[in-house]
Amino acid sequence: MTATPVVLESRPDQVPEGSAAAVVVGTDVAGLRRLVEGATSADVDRALGRAHPDLDDFAVLLSPAAAGRLEDLAGAAQRITRARFGATVRLFSPLYLSNECVSTCTYCGFSAGNDIARRTLSLSEVRAEALELHRRGFRHILLVSGEHARIVSKDYLEACVATVAPEFAQVSVEVQVWDTATYRRLAAAGCDGVVVYQESYDPVTYAAVHLKGKKRNYAWRLAAPDRAAEAGMRRLGIGTLLGLHPDWRSEAIALTAHARALVKRWWRCEVQVALPRLRPAAGGFEPLDPVSDAAFVQILCALRIVLPDVGISLSTREPATLRDALVPLGVTTMSAGSHTEPGGYAEASEAEPQFSISDTRSPGEVADALRSAGYDPVWKDWQRA
Ligand code: SF4
Repeated sequence: MTATPVVLESRPDQVPEGSAAAVVVGTDVAGLRRLVEGATSADVDRALGRAHPDLDDFAVLLSPAAAGRLEDLAGAAQRITRARFGATVRLFSPLYLSNECVSTCTYCGFSAGNDIARRTLSLSEVRAEALELHRRGFRHILLVSGEHARIVSKDYLEACVATVAPEFAQVSVEVQVWDTATYRRLAAAGCDGVVVYQESYDPVTYAAVHLKGKKRNYAWRLAAPDRAAEAGMRRLGIGTLLGLHPDWRSEAIALTAHARALVKRWWRCEVQVALPRLRPAAGGFEPLDPVSDAAFVQILCALRIVLPDVGISLSTREPATLRDALVPLGVTTMSAGSHTEPGGYAEASEAEPQFSISDTRSPGEVADALRSAGYDPVWKDWQRA
């Protein structure tokens, strides 16, 4: 069975019919949110006992009733993670190409209005950074940049992918969203993964934090993972930034609806989710509705229970002790030793970072911590034919 091809970019202002994005738009998040409030401990038992839990069960597992049953949730999440992923955690590193950006997003250090040190790496600098990451052990790399279609153009990105692809088993991009044809070009150059965080799934919040630039188009961004999959990308990463919307439960529900829809629609792809908790950034951003550690654990466990085969990624935004503690509950992918500014691996960089990191351990120290906890750090789990 193959997924039915669709012309995904035909209406940039609307999500295409038949896409995973359309499923998200059609999801009754408010109704699910009401289920959260009404859930009882007996509902939590039922959700935990289901062979194939659905979005209703996810809402129940996010409830205050489930918050009182965190040990039960953690036990279930741990069992599922062991059964589906074994004792492994894949390590990857971001490589920031440029912090140039023409979009204005209230929460980001790279935002166009911010008076920061800007830099775009030359191809030889990209190669030097990549070789340094390779020397540190990484074989999975994520190329990241701000949104500047002239400086960080399609040609530039294609050349960056082609520069690093020979050294790395797997190359993903987290850059501005593109049409299917451009994703095809990147795939042909050696890229096999696309990461697109919707940031906020709530259209009102989305409009309130994305003030200027192409990123304001909610529907075009929401359908980007569909376009990437259609272009042949094998790994799809999605996420929501906790701290933008005043209600983190709504965001977690929408993210889960999106992941489930992608798994169903693009069943050949590997889907991965992330829920970074926002940190203060250049421009004075302060996150809303901070998610406590206990609530964060609850979300992770609920995700693992309802999305047993989906990867969960945890960034260096979280502190080392918490990252170590969350691994058994479902985390399958981690960045390590990250720099969030262009340059910084091969030599020091003066450029402004996108956000500050909490876990400052080196990749080797993160790998050692995983081994001491009985996990295999996986540097490579894929090889392009
Ligand atoms: S979130 Fe992306 S588009 Fe927005 S300011 Fe930052 S780099 Fe630019």
